Amino acid sequence: MPIDATQPYDDANIFARILRGEIPAKRVYEDAFALAFHDIAPQAPVHVLVIPKGAYVSWDDFSARAPDAEIAGFVRAVGHVAREHGLVEPGYRLLANVGGHGGQEVPHLHVHLFGGVPLGPMLSR
Ligand code: 5GP
Repeated sequence: MPIDATQPYDDANIFARILRGEIPAKRVYEDAFALAFHDIAPQAPVHVLVIPKGAYVSWDDFSARAPDAEIAGFVRAVGHVAREHGLVEPGYRLLANVGGHGGQEVPHLHVHLFGGVPLGPMLSR
């Protein structure tokens, strides 16, 4: 079920638990602002999720409330992970689902990095 992007942050969400190390994830990058790990159900040869370490429900919450340093740190981490995975030259897709119409299921901001094959149309038709 998609989440309501205006809901308060739920500290028990699955990505909060991954951040705290309570459940495992195939981690590929971590710094002061972000954690990146493989999606559990990959939809492309490369499907990595990048999340901020701060408690933000969605892109909307993050863009409205996060301090500039956290925003800069997160954006740079996403770019770093894409470069580290060799995605820049062939190209890749960056996606953030927000709330109901976006189909967001986990209420901690995450961006999807997809790559490794031509990804086709931006939206299914
Ligand atoms: P959303 O629809 O919220 O943008 O995407 C959530 C993503 O999180 C999905 O692609 C789903 O496969 C992934 N996911 C859900 N639970 C877990 C988990 O426990 N571990 C990992 N690594 N990915 C998860």
